[in-house]
Amino acid sequence: MTVQRTDFIMNTPVEQTVCGPDADAIAAQAVDLMRRLECILSFFLPGSDVWNLNEAAGHGAVPLQPETVEVLREALHYSRLSGSAFDVTAAPLTDLWRRCGKQQKVPDGDEIRRLQALVGYQHLEVGDDTACLSSEGCAVDLGGIAKGLAADACVQLYRAEGVESAFVNLGGNVKAIGGKTPSEPWSVGLQHPGLPRGASFASLAVVDESVVTSGSYERFATVDGHRYHHIIDPRTGWPSDSGLQSVTVICESSMKADALSTAAFVLGLDDGLTLVCEQGTDAVFLTDDGDVYITPGVRSRFQLAPDCGFQCYVGA
Ligand code: ADP
Ligand code: MG
Repeated sequence: MTVQRTDFIMNTPVEQTVCGPDADAIAAQAVDLMRRLECILSFFLPGSDVWNLNEAAGHGAVPLQPETVEVLREALHYSRLSGSAFDVTAAPLTDLWRRCGKQQKVPDGDEIRRLQALVGYQHLEVGDDTACLSSEGCAVDLGGIAKGLAADACVQLYRAEGVESAFVNLGGNVKAIGGKTPSEPWSVGLQHPGLPRGASFASLAVVDESVVTSGSYERFATVDGHRYHHIIDPRTGWPSDSGLQSVTVICESSMKADALSTAAFVLGLDDGLTLVCEQGTDAVFLTDDGDVYITPGVRSRFQLAPDCGFQCYVGA
């Protein structure tokens, strides 16, 4: 039996395809699991672990669920590794841009500079089952990594239930078990930034891996005809303007792919390629000019859509 279902979780549509005798019940369990993770990791839900940690900023450590500790540790690791291009403590800035975007305003430069001083992973300390933010006004935002954790958790559940073929997609954050059939890989489309949702500029053949994309076309606000997207460069305080439209990272861990795709998007083509190659992952970069750069490991399973209008090069 193959079951397909779509739910709305973590502020994004979540599609599951699960094959096997108990697929229905397993997909339902995965929904419960993702909802539980959302309840503890959400920036917006009063009483979530992240909410409690942010509320207590400057006032000591807060007890946390094991999953929260795990994702905070990983997030700290990628914050260090990327030199703060991905920074788990970017929340004062991401929240400012989100609030201003809703009011169709651009934030005030002084306010950006003031909040920048509160951003930096050195403000976050993670203990065995607690975490602590050093000053009032500091905050964490797991939006760039939590969907990866959720995809990994789903796949762990599927495997524990004996599933040999499954696919979960949390709004562009994909993870697969096996192939679509024993002889056919899953095909993952990479969203064309200029076309309606579902139209791809390329496709990737995937078996037992995660494919995660960060893109400027995903979420944005338009102010005076200018588009301001949702990935902030903590080093400037402004939406990242690194010359990229999207970065897709391919590796086993979805949490790693999620953090690295956000980091590489902020770093831009050259430094982003260096980072993903150092981390041993494959990646696809799409520049503002419509050039597509792929790492060598992607070549044999990557297909550019013939009419997409982009040029493809093998990088690094
Ligand atoms: P998406 O959420 O669209 O899949 P990403 O994984 O790239 O894309 O995450 C973007 C989210 O991560 C933002 O909505 C925000 O919550 C958070 N974020 C934005 N900029 C950064 C950053 N530089 N470092 C860490 N998190 C960020
Ligand atoms: Mg991400």
